[in-house]
Amino acid sequence: MILNIIRIIVGIVFALFLPGYLLTFILFKKLKLLERICLAIGLSIFVVVFLSFYLTAISFFSSEAGITTMGVWLSLLIVCVLFVIIIISKNKTSHPKDPLTIKKLFGIIIFFSGIYHLYSLINKIIGKPKVTILMYHRIALAHDKQKNLLDSNVVSVSLEDFEKQMKHLSKNCNVITFDELLDCYKKKRLTKDSVIITFDDGYKDNFLYAYPVLRKYKLSATISLTTGHINSNKLFWWDKIAYIIHKTKIKRFTLDGLGTFSLNNKPKIIQIIQEKVKKIPENKKNYLIARLAKKLNVKIPLARNLFLSWNDVRKMSNNNISFSAHTVTHPILTRVSLKQAKDEIMLSKKKIERETKKQVSVFTYPNGDRKDMSITINQFLEKNGFSFALSTIYGANDLNIDPFRLKRVSVEDDDDLRLFQIKVSGLGKFFEPVYSLLKK
Ligand SMILES: [Zn+2]
Repeated sequence: MILNIIRIIVGIVFALFLPGYLLTFILFKKLKLLERICLAIGLSIFVVVFLSFYLTAISFFSSEAGITTMGVWLSLLIVCVLFVIIIISKNKTSHPKDPLTIKKLFGIIIFFSGIYHLYSLINKIIGKPKVTILMYHRIALAHDKQKNLLDSNVVSVSLEDFEKQMKHLSKNCNVITFDELLDCYKKKRLTKDSVIITFDDGYKDNFLYAYPVLRKYKLSATISLTTGHINSNKLFWWDKIAYIIHKTKIKRFTLDGLGTFSLNNKPKIIQIIQEKVKKIPENKKNYLIARLAKKLNVKIPLARNLFLSWNDVRKMSNNNISFSAHTVTHPILTRVSLKQAKDEIMLSKKKIERETKKQVSVFTYPNGDRKDMSITINQFLEKNGFSFALSTIYGANDLNIDPFRLKRVSVEDDDDLRLFQIKVSGLGKFFEPVYSLLKK
């Protein structure tokens, strides 16, 4: 009996190998021969496992033997996934510019295994209504991305991908504004596939690239403005760090308060330094960055045409784009005095209201992690005319969630359309912890 099963499996794997091998030419263009063969075997095994998984899932409910069989298949599945991850991580190091990542591979597996479609279907039938708030930062042209000396982590997506994503939203989702969401909260009624589009910080490309696409698909969006940078030429601290490290010719350095670094993998070092600087008190950040620039012999440039102007803001404000307060200087509010936090909130709110002649009822927490928000600040927001506060905690929101702790789903540079659809469907929450673990 077992021998027969093994024979059948081996037979199917062999039968699937050739189409699987051909598929690798379509999906993964830059693989080496051995990687291609391994991946094709992996894909074939995966198909068999999944077919069997669905079949045994049926017998699981009717026989005890089903439980054992399912256990065997589950372990096989795990082995296959690990197998594919090893191949891809190997592939990643041999082709650093190849956009194929472990994350994308997860996307391919979830999409083509039918999990995504099954999940969407179940959600349509029994899912709870929820709103997914998408978080973007910068939108870049593909060729600008390569020569970008600023922080590439705030480039959420290329213009080409952004257009595809907006097309998907306009066809499949109900894109709403925060005013409409407030209405939904009051009436306790929300449609299942509600989406809100947000952009953080106020970069110029929101106006140059995102805004025309939003208009094309008649979609509304909210841009969070760090008002001290609007119309200004001051770089954000994270962009300064990226610029200094990209530009320096020094290969190794030690800086008090930061540590010793060898600059052989600049993107990684930028991330490490940013994480360290993030934890430094707000008033010491700029001083430390100035010391870093001096040490690495780099002159920090002025930001030319990097941020929105108030003219851009007013133009968009008249055309379906709303604005949220995101402080004046972007400090983490739980790391400054309560008085300063309140000033940062109110000054940015009033400035936007003066410029747009419209009420600002949404606040976006800088950095927006759990520890960056507080109940005291939320109460202050509620008392001062705000209806919502946005965090950067990953997830979608139902109507029972605290409106001053709204979760968001961040859209990242390596999200292709498949991953984007997975994220919007809500399925991303199961995989996000895995992605962030892999990133570390
Ligand atoms: Zn921000």
